[in-house]
Amino acid sequence: MIDLRSDTVTLPTDAMRKAVFEAEVGDDVYGEDPTVNRLQELAADMVGKEAALLVPSGTMGNQIAVLTHCRPGTEVILEADSHIYYYEAAAASVFAGVQPRPLPGKRGSLPAELVEWAIRQDDIHLPPTSLICMENTHNRAGGTVVPLEDMEAVYDVACRHDLPVHLDGARIFNASIASGVAVKEFTACTTSVQFCLSKGLGAPVGSIIAGSLDFIDEARRWRKRLGGGMRQAGIFAAAGVVALETMVERLAEDHANARLLADGLAAMKGIVFNPDDVETNIVIVKPTTLSIRELGDELEKRGILTVVIEPDRIRFTTNKDVSRIDIEKTIEAVKEVLGGS
Ligand SMILES: *Cc1c(COP(=O)(O)O)cnc(C)c1O
Repeated sequence: MIDLRSDTVTLPTDAMRKAVFEAEVGDDVYGEDPTVNRLQELAADMVGKEAALLVPSGTMGNQIAVLTHCRPGTEVILEADSHIYYYEAAAASVFAGVQPRPLPGKRGSLPAELVEWAIRQDDIHLPPTSLICMENTHNRAGGTVVPLEDMEAVYDVACRHDLPVHLDGARIFNASIASGVAVKEFTACTTSVQFCLSKGLGAPVGSIIAGSLDFIDEARRWRKRLGGGMRQAGIFAAAGVVALETMVERLAEDHANARLLADGLAAMKGIVFNPDDVETNIVIVKPTTLSIRELGDELEKRGILTVVIEPDRIRFTTNKDVSRIDIEKTIEAVKEVLGGS
């Protein structure tokens, strides 16, 4: 099978398995797991924040950030297709008791003037704005890189209104590799950041949240409340260290494969998308002669797995376990399926 459903399907490398085997561990709820501590220090350093915390998933990381920044009854400004709004089962409403204020983005980027317009005035009728969230790369926009200038503009608005900014940077390393902008430059426009170890970086489990020492102290309490305090977590943190030390630069290969796929698909009739939107490891297309179900099912029969992005688009995500040859086979398979329709 050529698995293009997601970059979460990546399997741990031999180096990760070896690191897991040899990992020195302890009880992380007591702060005594040396491998977790090493991962957190490395992660904080890489994103230019004072401190970092290992969490079980990106979703929990984002929700801990919302819980730490916001009181119930306040409002969170975010992009209408963002993961926090679209894919986290309304967790921000359920757990943090906040009201989301979704705004339409441009290729995943929140326009700063729209953000400023959406910030609430001090009025008894209105929920106070408590947080602004951004996402980079932006998944549903097609893995697009939110330009640094756009993030800076939103951060500038946030600072003027004394509001925190959280970055859902599940794929911030993809954004950095694709754009040549350092991760630290992106995260300099944020109060807190979440990124995933378990996507393109290939680790089996885990995400990181990072921010100030005070933010992480409070975030650690929220993690415990949610049941996310883990014991000998160094077992998988060891793979996270390998991910950060050795798997970042190679994301360029995933991007080159997505480019190859996009160029191959762009030449076909029966598929529409903007090939310029393909900047990282995600290719989202809309078939015009087949339903998404038909296209997905026919590709699956040919050994290729994809994901349906409601209501009418299909997503291919390149990752370290998919080769250039797999991409060539995928292009041929799509050609065959469309040709036969
Ligand atoms: C995958 C993803 C998450 C959530 O990560 P999980 O570990 O699957 O919970 C959050 N934000 C974005 C943009 C993602 O792509």
